[in-house]
Amino acid sequence: MSRIAYVNGRYRNLRDACVNVEDRGYQFADGVYEVCEVRGRKLVDFPRHMARLQRSLRELRIAEPMPLSALGIVMREVVRRNRVIYGLVYLQVTRGVARRDHAFPPTTVKPSIVVTARPLNYAKNQQTAANGIKVVTVPENRWPRVDIKSVSLLPNVLAKQEAREKGAYEAWYVGSDGFITEGASSNAWIVTKDGRVVTRSAESGILAGITRAVLMEVMEALQIRLEERPFTPAEAREAAEAFVTSASQIVMPVVAIDGQIVGNGRPGAVARRLREEFHRFSAFS
Ligand code: PMP
Repeated sequence: MSRIAYVNGRYRNLRDACVNVEDRGYQFADGVYEVCEVRGRKLVDFPRHMARLQRSLRELRIAEPMPLSALGIVMREVVRRNRVIYGLVYLQVTRGVARRDHAFPPTTVKPSIVVTARPLNYAKNQQTAANGIKVVTVPENRWPRVDIKSVSLLPNVLAKQEAREKGAYEAWYVGSDGFITEGASSNAWIVTKDGRVVTRSAESGILAGITRAVLMEVMEALQIRLEERPFTPAEAREAAEAFVTSASQIVMPVVAIDGQIVGNGRPGAVARRLREEFHRFSAFS
């Protein structure tokens, strides 16, 4: 089956789906994106993803390319045309096509939109979660505006590659103050020996993950104690459990950090429970 992408008003076969070489996303990484999980053909927590998209666009002064409800229709249509039951839908909005010049183009330039969707292997992801993943720490080297979900991901690409080359799946950034900020494509969490779940506050240093926000509601409902504060790699290595969250991984247990086993080296009970309960609390649309 051929894959379909939406590009600036058209649904096209992926191999024919092109953007202009002067698109500012291509030239300057001048754009933002969102990734939503698809479950049972439905978008997970779509309104929250749209709220974050709106914020990212506003911070970068990129115009909304179309009403967000219409964007939802396009995203669902891409999911439908690709027959995705379980997987991901990706949305990218850039400042548009203009002669290459760093400063903003005239306001007549319309933002570009690309939407793609692809299935994920449910059984394989469940197996990965049952085994847990390894993470390595890397020095934080991103710009301070990581709160904006920008397509400028080169430091994240390099961090992820370093993780892969070291036999790990995710990299955790460590700031110059010695505290972990977040993963290259996820938020970072630990569980203390007395059962408190710890994650950094979204005030600085991290992207405010949608999975993170929903998980906090899950924890409140399950009466699991939460502490929003930074933690160091040393505290993480000594923690009872660790895990990461993202739309593509939901709650993914971490079983080793920098080659040192976390807890008993198996996914922890808190992470497993949060993973199981998560979708009872997410919105499907
Ligand atoms: N931080 C970074 C750097 C990310 O790329 C992601 C994934 N988009 C997240 C956190 C998690 O965000 P979400 O739960 O919204 O997928």
